[in-house]
Amino acid sequence: MKTHEEVWNNCLKVIKDNVSLIAFKTWFEPISASKIDGSTLTIQVPSQFFYEYLEEQFLDILRKTLRKELGPDAKLEYNVVMENNIFGGAKPYTVKMPATGKSDIKNKSVSISAENVRESSIKNPFIIPGIRQLDIDPQLNSEYTFDNFVEGECNRLARSAGFAVAKNPGGTAFNPLMIFGGSGLGKTHLAHAIGISVKELFPEKIVLYVTAERFKTQYTEAVRNNSYNDFIHFYQMIDVLLIDDVHEFEGKEKTQDVFFHLFNHLHQNNKQLILTSDKAPIDLQGLEQRLLSRFKWGLTADLQVPDFETRISILNKKLYKDGIEMPSEVVEYIASHITNNVRELEGALISLLAQATLNKKEITIDLARQMIDKFVKNTKREISIDYIQKIVCDYFNMPIESIRSKTRKREIVQARQIAMYFAKGMTKSSLATIGSVIGGKDHATVLHACKTVNNLIETDKRFRVFIEEIDKKLKM
Ligand code: ADP
Ligand code: MG
Repeated sequence: MKTHEEVWNNCLKVIKDNVSLIAFKTWFEPISASKIDGSTLTIQVPSQFFYEYLEEQFLDILRKTLRKELGPDAKLEYNVVMENNIFGGAKPYTVKMPATGKSDIKNKSVSISAENVRESSIKNPFIIPGIRQLDIDPQLNSEYTFDNFVEGECNRLARSAGFAVAKNPGGTAFNPLMIFGGSGLGKTHLAHAIGISVKELFPEKIVLYVTAERFKTQYTEAVRNNSYNDFIHFYQMIDVLLIDDVHEFEGKEKTQDVFFHLFNHLHQNNKQLILTSDKAPIDLQGLEQRLLSRFKWGLTADLQVPDFETRISILNKKLYKDGIEMPSEVVEYIASHITNNVRELEGALISLLAQATLNKKEITIDLARQMIDKFVKNTKREISIDYIQKIVCDYFNMPIESIRSKTRKREIVQARQIAMYFAKGMTKSSLATIGSVIGGKDHATVLHACKTVNNLIETDKRFRVFIEEIDKKLKM
């Protein structure tokens, strides 16, 4: 007598040779055999959908291999265990399927098959229930087009891969297309651009943009309202699925599990997936390995910080679109001061325009400077005591060790006092901390240093220049 494992392993050997490697990994590796009873083998599958899919696609091969192993009366039973995980507490249930043909039970227990999903009314978690598939709102922002997405060295690969995908969704090697890049570099914009372009080229395709966060909420609500099947069927209809910020899935195991199966379903049916993330796949620590490995099937393209020329083009494009004129020196001033985030670049432009209109001022470089000063100050990193010591020492041309030492040489004492003065004014550190970092002094010494520096600023013109110059360097 063979054990259930042996029987199933023998089946797998044959199946492996008869289906594609991807199909095998997706649909057979997650299965395990759980029981054998006479000529009935029970296998464990992760979802109802899994069972339906096996029956739809692989019935013949399952039947042949099982008969070979267990004789002409061979039967296969499925044990669906995923529902158990999701609804916690609910019992796993079993679907019986005689390996001799399509079972009646299948038709009883599976209410919606792959084809009639498209025609039947499905609960759309985005709008009102009972909406027909053609009415699914893709949730796209019409401003975020390819035309409005300025091309530069920083985004060339991602942009052209996005373009290729839009022209042939599901038909390129870029599936999934994974776009990653820091905040404000255009991931969301590019995802929408792909969706908009697909809709223009293939109006009949069902396109959907959703944030990972929203997907997670919908899933949790579906479980709570007992409408998990509607939820999953809705998503299984999508032709081009855009999921924004998949790093939000980190640490959310159940959502990942659901998404994993959805991913497999869509991918298997040549549906296009586009994912964005603010981390490279390798840095997505909180994602399951099997999901990560899926992400790597397609193409990963990153968005870099735009260079100066591209920043200018982005600003000009926006100005042109809004019909606003601005002196080019002002545009250059903004582009050279806001360097690593397109969202901030746009924010600065908008603030400047607001300033100019509200106060009825002309847009000059001076106005831009005032505005940027404020703008950049608000988003500025906190200056560290170490950085202050370094700037002060550089300014007086002395090694940083001297200021930290106990030396009482006049010029070193003075540099130390200046560093303490700036540390008090520019950091949130306590006097005691400042003292201990700068030369191992106590809080009274720091207080004394600040008084001394303030006095000298009042009385010594040359000293005042020192302070002003260091202040400028620190704020650069
Ligand atoms: P992310 O999703 O990466 O945080 P977004 O896509 O939201 O960034 O982009 C932030 C803002 O910058 C948006 O208003 C977007 O239109 C704009 N933007 C980003 N990259 C470009 C670009 N290459 N050309 C034009 N606008 C851009
Ligand atoms: Mg975004």
